[in-house]
Amino acid sequence: MSERASEPVSQRAGEGAGPADRAKVAVIGLGIMGGPMAANLVAAGYDVIGFNRSRPAVDRLVELGGRAAESAAEAVRDADVVITMVPDSPDVEALALGEDGIYANAEPGQLHIDCSTIRPDVARRIAAAGAERGIRVVDAPVSGGESGAVEGTLSIMVGGEPADVEAARPYLDVVGATVVHVGPPGAGQTVKAANQLIVAGNIQLVAEALVFLEAHGVDTEPAMAVLAGGLAGSTVLNSKAAGMRSREFTPGFRVDLHHKDMGIVTAAAREAGVVIPLGAHVAQLVGALRAQGHGGLDHSALLLLVEQLSGRAGTGD
Ligand code: NAD
Repeated sequence: MSERASEPVSQRAGEGAGPADRAKVAVIGLGIMGGPMAANLVAAGYDVIGFNRSRPAVDRLVELGGRAAESAAEAVRDADVVITMVPDSPDVEALALGEDGIYANAEPGQLHIDCSTIRPDVARRIAAAGAERGIRVVDAPVSGGESGAVEGTLSIMVGGEPADVEAARPYLDVVGATVVHVGPPGAGQTVKAANQLIVAGNIQLVAEALVFLEAHGVDTEPAMAVLAGGLAGSTVLNSKAAGMRSREFTPGFRVDLHHKDMGIVTAAAREAGVVIPLGAHVAQLVGALRAQGHGGLDHSALLLLVEQLSGRAGTGD
């Protein structure tokens, strides 16, 4: 647990002028998660320079006191630490190892913290490629969703060499409340794959419970309140049930991204020679939702599929 875990981010941001040496932090990928993470680093007093594939996200960072880079290469030069928060394994691989990418422009000793959710084997490969060039690489995927990113309360599972993880910790403590070193390079991604397995299964069961309760004519608001207080309670139920009840599926976490993550966990399970029967089933349901054109919705839209399979599409609130 981070030693600053209990302090709200606003309180931390107000602590004097920020880091004494005003370390320079490059953040590449300023989307739903990377945008607010960069904003919290600015609020904590870091000199944050941002790069994103599309410009409006960079402009938002500049409005908050950050600086704009025109390319990943420009962001990386002179940075003490580079944080990447982009969608998928090929995105991180291209950014890290590309011709004019991070490692081509970084100096030995620079620290790369990849917060994206990617394949553990790709994380290990990138860490090894960084090490060859003297660049310290840490995989630090996050959980906690958009609200966790905004509030600076993410749960962060960190893989890497102990000294590199300690070097990354001050930055991770700004964006997260629970920062745990879980093992060598790639281990953070393995834990994140398990996280995505649990979250997908949990959402699916909350969706099934809601459709079940509605079919019985039960008022789902008090039903969810009492379920939340017992063994059925979960962070998924607390943060997703209200949106599911009102069919509000603005992401949040896109179905497309969870589909990617179910691919990661099913492949990693196969690689380890273990089976995840329920997880594999939910992976198919996430794939079906995506195939129906719902890839841009929040993953809580799994409820739509349960309704459809039950012959109840469009019967909700
Ligand atoms: P997003 O699509 O909102 O943001 C990704 C951003 O990266 C976009 O703004 C895109 O323009 C930018 N980008 C992509 N490739 C780039 C490149 N080469 N150079 C510069 N910018 C680039 O995605 P997100 O929801 O912020 O998710 C990012 C990562 O975090 C994913 O791996 C996701 O699985 C993970 N994650 C997301 C959530 C969530 O709730 N959204 C929670 C935990 C983890």
